[in-house]
Amino acid sequence: KQQLLQQYKGKETISKSGKKIKLFANIGNVSDVAAALENDAEGIGLFRSEFLYLGTDDYPSEEEQFQAYKTVAEMMAGKLVVIRTLDIGADKQVDYFDLEKEDNPAMGLRAIRLCLTRPEIFKTQLRALIRASAYGNIAIMYPMIISVDEVRRIKDLVEEVKKELDAAGVGYGKFSQGIMIETPASAVISDLLAKEVDFFSIGTNDLIQYTLAADRQNPKLELFTDTHHEAVLRLIKMAIDNGHKEGIWVGICGELGADTTLTSRFLEMGIDELSVSSSFLLKVRRQVIEGD
Ligand code: PEP
Ligand code: MG
Repeated sequence: KQQLLQQYKGKETISKSGKKIKLFANIGNVSDVAAALENDAEGIGLFRSEFLYLGTDDYPSEEEQFQAYKTVAEMMAGKLVVIRTLDIGADKQVDYFDLEKEDNPAMGLRAIRLCLTRPEIFKTQLRALIRASAYGNIAIMYPMIISVDEVRRIKDLVEEVKKELDAAGVGYGKFSQGIMIETPASAVISDLLAKEVDFFSIGTNDLIQYTLAADRQNPKLELFTDTHHEAVLRLIKMAIDNGHKEGIWVGICGELGADTTLTSRFLEMGIDELSVSSSFLLKVRRQVIEGD
């Protein structure tokens, strides 16, 4: 079967009706880029930056982060690399953050909330990301967004970092900024959020969890976690429509993006990009090309 998929290598990811899809890969660290390229990734749609923070006993330095982002940008040679800023919380143990124990970590001080609470840590990552933009085609993506105010605060920090780099004579390139749509709130106000950013990437893992009020870590809830739930699909459609009204691209980087029983639905909805694990890239391409 894997062999049959090989024939899709080198092909354009375009549907029978002529809709071109950006088929990107999700990666968790620098060493995943090889498999992404091997399977024809047209870009990186989600680079989970957590790996830099997990499994170490201190904050990763700006230089260490810069090297990682720069390496991926260079390896992808001008193709888009979407790097997500730190997405940890009390459920992902990082001792040196000294996080207070929370009863509901999934709804706690995680991801962007943690970054906005500790701007110095966030700014170190932003500096590394912005510096790396000189070496490739980088997009910065923010997780767990629920409000316009958060996005504005982030953009202010980005401007601050750029000014600091300018003042220090440190160079950087162009980069775009987008957000994950992975909370119901962000999908519902996606008309407002679309005015603030360059793209949306729908994080269906969390979007499903929060929409269905079903903990993604609890295996007992499988029966109650209908990943094709109409509420989830409507939120996805809403985000796509609202993104397009403002002229921005909208993709999916959660696991649902690799669910080929939904590919034709996503195409009908007008999805622009699908970002999946490297092992699913050719399977998704086949589905886009061949249809149901
Ligand atoms: C998601 O929530 O769908 C997502 C892509 O992010 P993560 O799985 O890392 O939470
Ligand atoms: Mg998520």
